[in-house]
Amino acid sequence: MSLTLPAALTGPVEEAPFPGAAPHPPLPDLAGFAAHAGTRLRENDRALYDLLARETARQRDTLMMVAASSVADPSVLACEGSVLGNLTAEGYPGNRYHAGCGVADEIERLAIERACAAFGARDAIVQPHSGSSANLAVITALLDPGDTLLGLDLDCGGHLTHGSPASVTGRHYRAHGYRVTPEGLLDYAQIRELALEHRPKLIVCGASAYPRSIDFARFREIADEAGAYLLADISHIAGLVAAGLHPNPVDHAHVTTTSTYKQLYGPRGGLILLGRDARTPGPERGTLAATLRRAVFPFTQGTPDLASVAAKARALDFVAGPGFAEVAKRLADGAQAIAERLLERGFELVTGGTDTHMVLLDLRATGVTGDVAEQALESCGIVVNRNRVPGDTTAVRVTGGLRLGTNTLAARGMDRTAVVECADLVADVLTALRAPGGVLPDPLRERVRARVSRLCAAHPLPGYPL
Ligand SMILES: *Cc1c(COP(=O)(O)O)cnc(C)c1O
Repeated sequence: MSLTLPAALTGPVEEAPFPGAAPHPPLPDLAGFAAHAGTRLRENDRALYDLLARETARQRDTLMMVAASSVADPSVLACEGSVLGNLTAEGYPGNRYHAGCGVADEIERLAIERACAAFGARDAIVQPHSGSSANLAVITALLDPGDTLLGLDLDCGGHLTHGSPASVTGRHYRAHGYRVTPEGLLDYAQIRELALEHRPKLIVCGASAYPRSIDFARFREIADEAGAYLLADISHIAGLVAAGLHPNPVDHAHVTTTSTYKQLYGPRGGLILLGRDARTPGPERGTLAATLRRAVFPFTQGTPDLASVAAKARALDFVAGPGFAEVAKRLADGAQAIAERLLERGFELVTGGTDTHMVLLDLRATGVTGDVAEQALESCGIVVNRNRVPGDTTAVRVTGGLRLGTNTLAARGMDRTAVVECADLVADVLTALRAPGGVLPDPLRERVRARVSRLCAAHPLPGYPL
């Protein structure tokens, strides 16, 4: 008996999405689809839609000065909210554990290419779900449980994943911390001494609350002398690094990590970057790059989030593009202007200033605690975060300081005059809190709110037609 195949299975296949299928209809209109998706959410889940709408308005109408925060272009959000979220693509490009990943491979390769271009890296791993996941992958790849690591103390501006006892990195490894000087500066002589004393297998540099630039070359010298790997975590300063406004660690450190939602204006996520040590042998089999790839998958993560990988690719294109130099310059100049203004207004800053996007206010001499300042500022539409400062003896939820950053202000296109006005508004609120009684008078709150509204309206979120 002869089998007759239907015509659809015998026609030309070049144009078909899979063997035997009909030729492709035209590609879908994603812009229309996004509008439809929003309408569908509104119609089917009003409660959730209203919450999202309220949050959108909050972001539009407040001055976001949290140093760890930024604002992604709507094209980044479009990738994050795309059908790529439907895709399961365990493995790496060209080496997945099932079919259907052809487009995913192209997207991930593009993200890798763009990450390398933005940072002058030789290799990049774009799958980490966050900066913390990236750090965990690196640390678990390079260290065995019980091995020693040396990182900046949490108290002095380090990150939880740099060996804090509250994190697995401080629990499963022997973590030692280096500290900043009373002025708040890194002390390379002390770091070297600790490295030679404890002989860590890994030294971590980079910080969450350190306003000055970091000498990565000096860190590498110390790591080489102590026989340690060096991890540079540039989560906070990645944009300045990409723009050449902060030293680039990629060829100094063995490995560099970063979050993508802070200064890269990207999605939630992390990156691992490798420079001149990419092809040096790792601690076990293969190169350092291969070791780290295995450390992300399958060692510490499962399937990648391709929607976030695409969003990273989109953000990295922006960061490597011609418009970013201007944003980066505004980031740095804005922080400088805020620092100068706060000093003029009589406030104290950790290290006395900044080289980055970040200003760390030491409030201890004012008698106002960080938590009270944070709440008072939020009631005026200014969003900041309380932060401990070196030598701080207050509780972690109270704190003696505030951390300010310019990522969102710079993205809104604020020039010097506008950021100085932001600094003045912060100073006005803090000065009122400092007075006897320590409460914010209602008329002042209303006045600051009105000026915040004007600033936000004059500098809309970039590309947000709201
Ligand atoms: C924010 C931050 C991280 C963590 O990033 P997540 O993406 O939030 O996990 C890691 N390291 C440093 C220095 C950071 O500031």
